[in-house]
Amino acid sequence: MIDALLALDATWRLIAVTGLMLLFGLFGAFLGSFRNRKLLGALLGALLGPVGWLLLFLIQPAYVPCPECNARAHPRWARCPACQCDLQRALQRVSSAQQRAARADWR
Ligand SMILES: [Zn+2]
Repeated sequence: MIDALLALDATWRLIAVTGLMLLFGLFGAFLGSFRNRKLLGALLGALLGPVGWLLLFLIQPAYVPCPECNARAHPRWARCPACQCDLQRALQRVSSAQQRAARADWR
């Protein structure tokens, strides 16, 4: 692959490298979506390629604490793995309570 890149002239080399970074970044974002870290996945994928993809799985996933039992849960899961509560409804309730508190604070 390096030989093929060196055979190209400067403009096409730049286009090829940018395209590869974009592809690696997109795949990194896809892998990062499994751990709620899309942006970090895209960045690591674009800058480091396959090494960045591997690094992504060594970094802690961005889980949220369950509002009912404080266990670690992914924000897209339907139910908390520990207490089986409706996670989507509980997270929505917490965020609307935070918004109400912020509004009350502002007044
Ligand atoms: Zn829970």
